[in-house]
Amino acid sequence: MTPPVGRFAPTPSGQLHLGNALCAMLAYLSVRAQGGTFLLRIEDVDVPRCPPRLARQCLEDLAWLGLRWDAPPLYQSQRGDVYAAHAEELTRRGLTYPCFCTRAALHAEAAPNLGDTQQVYRGTCAFLSPEEIASLSRLRRPALRLRVPDEEYTFTDRLCGAVRENLKRECGDFVLRRSDGLWGYQLAVVVDDALSGVTEVVRGRDILTATPRQLYLQRLFGFPQPEYCHIPLLTDAFGRRLAKRAHDTGLTALREHASPEAVLGLLSQACGLQEEAAPVSMEALIPLFDWEKVKEKGDTLRLSAQWCGNTENKPSEKYLEEKA
Ligand code: GLU
Repeated sequence: MTPPVGRFAPTPSGQLHLGNALCAMLAYLSVRAQGGTFLLRIEDVDVPRCPPRLARQCLEDLAWLGLRWDAPPLYQSQRGDVYAAHAEELTRRGLTYPCFCTRAALHAEAAPNLGDTQQVYRGTCAFLSPEEIASLSRLRRPALRLRVPDEEYTFTDRLCGAVRENLKRECGDFVLRRSDGLWGYQLAVVVDDALSGVTEVVRGRDILTATPRQLYLQRLFGFPQPEYCHIPLLTDAFGRRLAKRAHDTGLTALREHASPEAVLGLLSQACGLQEEAAPVSMEALIPLFDWEKVKEKGDTLRLSAQWCGNTENKPSEKYLEEKA
C-alpha cells in the first residue's frame, strides 16, 4: 500500500482552539502512524476575515504542539488563478450559472433542510435568459453556482460510517464563487486536496454534510476520492461545547501556562489514545495511535475533569459550583 498523504487545513479567522488542536493531532498521527506525508494548508480564502497575523500565529501554535509538515504550507489566498481555471472549465461544460439572489432573498426563499441548518437553494436563477442575465448584471455582481444532479452521493466515513445525500433535494445548486468575488470553500478544498495528492482527510464533524458536494466536484474533475474521517466534537468536562472564540481554550493563551506535552496529554485522553491525561509528546503518541480507540469514544469527546476550562487550569468558582 502506498503511504497516505494527509493534511490539516485551518481557517485562520480566529486563533486555534483545543478542538482544532485535536483535529490537527489526529490528522498528523494518522498519517505518521502509516509512514505517510503530512501537509498544511492555510484556508485564508476569505481574505478580509483572515489577517496574515492570525495565519502566522496558527503556524507557530501548530509547531509548538509538535506538528512537522513535509512541504511549505499552501495559502489559499494565493491560489485564485487555480480556482478560476477550474471554475471556468465547469462553465465551459455548461454546468454553472450566474446567481443574482441577495442574501435576504435566499433567507426568505430557502426551505430549511431536514434536521440541519443547511438551506436548499431552490434554483431561482437556474434558468434565466441571456437578456435577463444582461439586465441583472447591470444591477449587481452575480455569484457563480454549480448545477447539481438529482442523484444520491454516498461514501463511508471511517468514524461515522455510511453517509448519503441527494444533492438536488437536500442541498441544491451551490456556490463556487461568491458575489464579492471570493472563491467558495467547496471548490477550493477539492482542487487543493487533489492537486496536493491528498489521500486522507481528517476534519471536524461540522463539515460532514459538505462532503457529498465535494464528491460531486471530484467526479466532475475526475479527481480520486480521498478517505474521510470526520472527528467528533470536543467538549469540556461537562459535555458543553467549547466556545470557538473563548480565550480559555485558545492555543496561544494556553502556551503561556501549559507545555505542549500537557495539552497533548489532555487531548489524547479525550480521544481514547491514552487512559490517563499523562503528559506526552507528539512523537510518543504515534505508536499509540489507532482509529478504533477514537471510534470507541462515541459521538462526543470530552476533556477530562482535570481540565478546568481556563488557562491557569485552576477550578473557577463557576466550575466548583457546577461540580457541587
Ligand atoms: N478550513 C476548514 C476549517 O477550519 C477545514 C476544511 C477541511 O479540512 O476540509 O474548519
